[in-house]
Amino acid sequence: MEQKLLRDTFVEINLDNIKYNINQIRQHIGDNVAIAAVVKANGYGHGAIDIAPAIIESGGDILAVATLTEGLELRNRYHNYEILIMGYTPDEYLEFAVKNNLALTIFSLNQANILNEIAKSSNKTPRVHIKYNTGFNRLGYKDSNKSIQEIATIINLKNIQVEGIFSHLALKNRNEDKIQYDKFVSAIKKIETKSKPIKYKHICDSISTVLYPEFHLSMVRPGAIVYGLESEEKGIIDVKPAMTFKTKLSQIKEIETDEGISYGYRWRAKKRSLIGTIPVGYADGYPRNLYQKGIVTVKGKKAPIIGVICMDQCMIDLTDIDGVKENDEVTLFSDGLNNTLSVEEIATLAKTNKNDIISGITRRTPRVYMKNNVVFKIKDYLLSND
Ligand SMILES: *Cc1c(COP(=O)(O)O)cnc(C)c1O
Repeated sequence: MEQKLLRDTFVEINLDNIKYNINQIRQHIGDNVAIAAVVKANGYGHGAIDIAPAIIESGGDILAVATLTEGLELRNRYHNYEILIMGYTPDEYLEFAVKNNLALTIFSLNQANILNEIAKSSNKTPRVHIKYNTGFNRLGYKDSNKSIQEIATIINLKNIQVEGIFSHLALKNRNEDKIQYDKFVSAIKKIETKSKPIKYKHICDSISTVLYPEFHLSMVRPGAIVYGLESEEKGIIDVKPAMTFKTKLSQIKEIETDEGISYGYRWRAKKRSLIGTIPVGYADGYPRNLYQKGIVTVKGKKAPIIGVICMDQCMIDLTDIDGVKENDEVTLFSDGLNNTLSVEEIATLAKTNKNDIISGITRRTPRVYMKNNVVFKIKDYLLSND
């Protein structure tokens, strides 16, 4: 069904910018390094299903997700894309993952053996990446000779295909990261000596992909930079934000000195004021703690959020903005140009990180996909599964 936009509050997703960002990553890493584009958390809020083709068409090699269900969502739609689950998949779900042709992350001989058995009964070759812990201490094999021996044993199993081995950096500083990298590379060397070469070796997320070209190995796993969120070191790789959060003014009213706004009257007018109400609240993914701190953009000017942010609405002070009318467009965040706040500025005000802001956009907020500056597709999760 062709969808209509039935809400004033939506995020606009620029598919061309996602393609641009993948191209920029490709230029930075060269042709011999694969890209596992991280599309977990619904593609960091951008809509995994609807951005996947842009990523693959512009040179992404693998789509990486955190959970089995995220992998299945993509697999149900796309039969040929390579999809890697980077998180832990419990034993009882392994068969389901294999049947659906999803590559798995494992870090035990026990799961390798289960998969080796599943292979025999299912007529499929399970594909796995081995997780190796070099210090982050989240998931993965302990860095030890015993682990190295066990991983070699897994690689030598007949019925499963070990496609990759990976680790994750703590990003403490260059020295600490180098220690992790060295541990990883030295373990791989020993493993390969005891078994055979592993195709995908990967340790870099966005920040390390940008900062440490010497750590790219044969694959990188960028997330944030795919969506145009610059990593710390600006300028090394130029990316463009893909998401803009917009709404429209529902109502404008004048209030008198001392009148209050929203729950608890936490804001009171110091003078006669012009107040706008916008139909966006914390249940749409706008952080509730931006109460009295958030800033939006109306007619190219900044307007502060005043009073407590409600679940579905909040109020802004329009007193200093000339000629504003009901139904005028309001930008909650964008690329930071034309007096808009960037995701980074919103994240700083909300005392969190950029990934948290964009992945927090909820399903009530429709996604409007733009291609060549025109609407390519409208997706409202409440109205359709398409
Ligand atoms: C989320 C994730 C990434 C991507 O992280 P960014 O900082 O967004 O680039 C890479 N690898 C793993 C294992 C992840 O969980």
